[in-house]
Amino acid sequence: MSTWLNATRRARELDALASGRVDVLVVGGGVTGCGVALDAASRGLSVALVEKDDLAFGTSRWSSKMVHGGLRYLATGDFAVAMESARERGVLMTRTAPHLVRALPMIVPHSADVTARDGLLVEAGHRTADVLRLVARTPRAVLPRPRRIGVAETTRLLPGVRREGLRGASLNWDGHLEDDARLVVAIARTAAGLGASVLTRVRYEDGVLTDLLTGRSLVPQAKTVVNATGAWADQITPGTKLRPSKGVHVVLSAASLGGPTAGMTVPVPGEPNRYVFALPHPDGIVHVGLTDDPLDGPLPEVPRAEEHEITFLLETLSRGLERPLDRSDVLGSFAGVRPLIAGEQGRTADLSRRHSVVLENGLLTVLGGKLTTYRKMAQDAVDLLTAVPCRTRDLPLVGAPTGPSGRLGRRYGCEAAEVAALAAGRPELLRPIVDGVPVLGVELLWGLKAEGALDAADLLERRTRLSLVDAWAEAAAPAVEALVQDGYAQA
Ligand SMILES: Cc1cc2nc3c(=O)[nH]c(=O)nc-3n(C[C@H](O)[C@H](O)[C@H](O)COP(=O)(O)OP(=O)(O)OC[C@H]3O[C@@H](n4cnc5c(N)ncnc54)[C@H](O)[C@@H]3O)c2cc1C
Repeated sequence: MSTWLNATRRARELDALASGRVDVLVVGGGVTGCGVALDAASRGLSVALVEKDDLAFGTSRWSSKMVHGGLRYLATGDFAVAMESARERGVLMTRTAPHLVRALPMIVPHSADVTARDGLLVEAGHRTADVLRLVARTPRAVLPRPRRIGVAETTRLLPGVRREGLRGASLNWDGHLEDDARLVVAIARTAAGLGASVLTRVRYEDGVLTDLLTGRSLVPQAKTVVNATGAWADQITPGTKLRPSKGVHVVLSAASLGGPTAGMTVPVPGEPNRYVFALPHPDGIVHVGLTDDPLDGPLPEVPRAEEHEITFLLETLSRGLERPLDRSDVLGSFAGVRPLIAGEQGRTADLSRRHSVVLENGLLTVLGGKLTTYRKMAQDAVDLLTAVPCRTRDLPLVGAPTGPSGRLGRRYGCEAAEVAALAAGRPELLRPIVDGVPVLGVELLWGLKAEGALDAADLLERRTRLSLVDAWAEAAAPAVEALVQDGYAQA
């Protein structure tokens, strides 16, 4: 079956759902829900997934885009979570999504306020994380050995690093996503290729589905409903114990940090095991994160970064920089809500990133976890529904294993040529949609034809991520709107 998702397929499959019956109805189109849909479909179950907005509309697009090997969980003594992370990182990097997850060197500079003892502790952590890599059988060719580097190499990789008192740095390697929303779309399309219906703009409430494009309601017939709504899970499974925590990032131009080619980590003063990091992304930008604060009261649909959170990130990172940052360096900001499982007191930063799966009266609730471990969460959930063995460990996502070098290869993997072919007869589609914006016309067209984008917001905010930089979104919006109106774009 085709992996393409688009408006035509959506309408057809929504009609089929109205009159048919499925084994599994997944609610929530984040990484967790899409992972469950893929796992269930790959074990031969009939599956429909409904998402009230767009794929990756919730937390899954606001992550730090790290595919963690578990280093930070080692620091909190959570060995099981650390090992699981290392294993899942290996699966993504070597088998299921090597086109979307790449090795990134991460550097902890040994600056004046990092004592020799702190430096040794960091290196001990890196060595232990490397043992997890080995146990997880991720080859050294994929994630090289951690090592101490000198001042010259530190300043070459991090040109903006503060020179005064710098004694070198500790360097280790971890997994880094091209983009989290693209991972979600790849999982959803792989599920669709195995027969799952993936239906966006469909809300689930009290057993009823509403098509938010037409207002039509239907009562789905499903053996099991899977609640994969993340931080919103208690709306479907009352009594769910969540302790949502907000995390904020800012987006800077790489030039404001001198063009780093490695991630940079700066300790938060007075807070053990907490860091602010700057991660270089393609297209000349750097993401700086991360806050971790409990979020009380009703959850916003789309959380926003507050000024004091932006200031905290800029000030903490500036401690490690030659030139301190200021507000004018910020190109954009974003915030997400972690769906953490409640149960412990203390800082949300210390809460376990474990997941839980609970099946009660035909309602399966999948909670907690993180992007890195979505596959294992899905496996644990679907294990409760069928005795057929899980096969997602060896199931490549669309686009895997890799594509040609260049922008399209990086984002679409082995589908890059197919994406480029959409420009046949319209060569302008292989150019940036407007000056100064990195996205090509074919990417928008592909988003509508194959990736389930239904409107300009889906393209700007989730297929291309242009909205992460305010100026890009503003410059590109008219061109994106125009393309959506263009009949040629419809599949
Ligand atoms: C700031 C931050 C940084 C992070 N960084 C990392 C990282 O670097 N690496 C990592 O591995 N993890 C990271 N995480 C964790 C990870 O992002 C989350 O654990 C994961 O994305 C949660 O995915 P989810 O699918 O469970 O939830 P979501 O992505 O929130 O998906 C839930 C979906 O359900 C939909 N929905 C809700 N109610 C309904 C309804 N009634 N009907 C239909 N649909 C509904 C929502 O619209 C939403 O799209 C980070 C989290 C945050 C907040």
